Amino acid sequence: MSHHHATPPSLTRHCDVAVIGGSAAGLAGALLLVRQRRSVIVVDDGSPRNAPAAHMHGYLGREGAAPAELQAVGRDEVRAYGGEVLDGRVLSVQREKTGFRVELSGGHALIARRVLVATGLVDELPPSTACASAGVVRSSTARSAMAGRCATSGSCR
Ligand SMILES: Cc1cc2nc3c(=O)[nH]c(=O)nc-3n(C[C@H](O)[C@H](O)[C@H](O)COP(=O)(O)OP(=O)(O)OC[C@H]3O[C@@H](n4cnc5c(N)ncnc54)[C@H](O)[C@@H]3O)c2cc1C
Repeated sequence: MSHHHATPPSLTRHCDVAVIGGSAAGLAGALLLVRQRRSVIVVDDGSPRNAPAAHMHGYLGREGAAPAELQAVGRDEVRAYGGEVLDGRVLSVQREKTGFRVELSGGHALIARRVLVATGLVDELPPSTACASAGVVRSSTARSAMAGRCATSGSCR
């Protein structure tokens, strides 16, 4: 029995467009691109902003669905046109002569002519005391989370 501890080979793949982030925006962008016959690789590390929400509301055609369901359908639609969706994290993007080098977790890389950044937003809620003084109520429900976001973009930031 051999005891090799060789580092697994790192892969470098080429594509027309590397999409960073594979949630609603990234997958929608990827779908348009694959329909235009571009080779597309989406990289997503699975932490969408609405991760705490069990159901989506007000999203036409998917009222009450789980966010993960929309993402799964979106991935299938992109893949149906030949797009690829990878689980992983983009660590860096560097400009090169003919495009971009996109470094991925795991030591792999993409060489892409274009990069579409769809990494979403991260909520940075202020401390509870600051919220209270600005009249913001913190809650785990989607509705009040979004209301809180609007309020915090003003004086409470
Ligand atoms: C609690 C809550 C409830 C919500 N409920 C609703 C609702 O009911 N209806 C509605 O219409 N909207 C709702 N929203 C808003 C909705 O979630 C956002 O509008 C939507 O998620 C934005 O999509 P996005 O693709 O721009 O970003 P996100 O969904 O945040 O996706 C960004 C993706 O990029 C990935 N990513 C980030 N950095 C990297 C990286 N370096 N490498 C690889 N991947 C990366 C993340 O893992 C993530 O999957 C809700 C939001 C919140 C916070």
